[in-house]
Amino acid sequence: MIQGPLRGPQPLSADTIAAIATAVAAGEGSVAIVRLSGPAAEAIGRQLFVAPGRQPWDSHRVLYGHVRDPATGERVDEALLLLMRAPRSFTREDVVEFHCHGGLICVQRVLELVLAAGARRALPGEFSQRAFLNGRLDLTRAEAISQLITARSRRAAQLAIAGLDGGLQRRITALRERLLDQLAELEARVDFEEDLPPLDGAMVTAELQAVRGELEQLLVDASQGQLLREGLRVAIIGRPNVGKSSLLNRLSRCERAIVTDLPGTTRDLVESELVLQGVPLTLLDTAGIRATDDQVERLGIERSRAALQAADAVLLLFDLSAGWTAEDQALRALVPEAVPLLIVGNKADQLDAGPLPAPEAEVRISALSGDGQEQLVEALLRCCGRSGDQGLQVALNGRQCELAAQAAASLAASLEAAAQQLPWDFWTIDLRAAVRALGEITGEAVSEAVLDRVFARFCIGK
Ligand code: GDP
Repeated sequence: MIQGPLRGPQPLSADTIAAIATAVAAGEGSVAIVRLSGPAAEAIGRQLFVAPGRQPWDSHRVLYGHVRDPATGERVDEALLLLMRAPRSFTREDVVEFHCHGGLICVQRVLELVLAAGARRALPGEFSQRAFLNGRLDLTRAEAISQLITARSRRAAQLAIAGLDGGLQRRITALRERLLDQLAELEARVDFEEDLPPLDGAMVTAELQAVRGELEQLLVDASQGQLLREGLRVAIIGRPNVGKSSLLNRLSRCERAIVTDLPGTTRDLVESELVLQGVPLTLLDTAGIRATDDQVERLGIERSRAALQAADAVLLLFDLSAGWTAEDQALRALVPEAVPLLIVGNKADQLDAGPLPAPEAEVRISALSGDGQEQLVEALLRCCGRSGDQGLQVALNGRQCELAAQAAASLAASLEAAAQQLPWDFWTIDLRAAVRALGEITGEAVSEAVLDRVFARFCIGK
């Protein structure tokens, strides 16, 4: 039924790979890990590591000692060694980890020795790829690891953990099995219609509809998941002195943008990363966009225009105490039609409560006191068509979305064949395609080229 160079997880006859598994930076990190996986891992470990006394080389036991250059006998680092024999390891192969001192030098020398001893430098994601190929992880769990590492907010990390626990795999597998049940019924009728009880087409279509509905819900949830993972880029624009930098500081609670009374001093684009209501936001504070002869400021303005183009949303700030001015109106006109816009009145503390002077303004705040901050964040998410946390359980990534959309489209085609009352085998063609797309999400049936692409997005050492 499944065609082409597709395959499920297959054990590898592998060589031994090695990589630095921790982040590497000069002068940073007290511990760094060199990880090996493959049949020669233990032999390489024994060749390079000297464990004094009678420490046994048992699996899942930590050894203390030194890494030594076998050519010169030089001690390269004082380290710990962790041996995890197959199959009780992440890759289900023999794994050895050298826990070295951090920074750049020791860990890189240890890696060089490991490579000289016969290991090969691992490709990005190759450890996870082996875990997948050896049946330790399905593809959704492997991808969740990558998402966990790159998570920019707690919620994004929670979603990744749910993926790692197999939440997504179970949802997709259950849907796939429901389709397989229907496919089996239909295919049996194609071959043995006379020998079997009649098939109720309405029951089949109801089930296909139901699965399609669930897939569509998963696709809707995916955009929320993408928001939690990738966040939004929000450009803050406004006349000089309306309080853009103050707002940025208020939201990010740090002094990254210079707050000042002089108009036009925020000359460059200031980027701040923060997490509000679980959503990572990149705030772009633009220079006061206005006609000017000042060369440097003009540069800032050009960046602002670029920021407007790149933003997912624009927050136009104006000064309530000055009212909505012609300059504010001119700025509003700069915002591209397609980009969601939120108009916010600042310096509410200087006004008595009353109707907002700008008809479009949704929110009034005081960057000085922090009043209105929560409403601002909610309005911002709303204007981008998003909401904060909705207790999302699982979320598809881009690759998985494409496949879920393919499966939903195939089901629609199958339902179309049903609506036209075509014979059973016409129903099965697209149903089979839907089953296959869902199988590709979990990796039950997936081409090697796809696998390579999935794992190439991982970091090295994972
Ligand atoms: P920017 O040029 O738009 O970045 O404006 P700044 O953030 O530099 O603020 C300009 C001036 O307005 C500063 O003196 C701020 O202290 C003041 N300011 C900013 N927000 C508020 C506010 O909510 N209330 C009041 N009263 N003053 C504010």
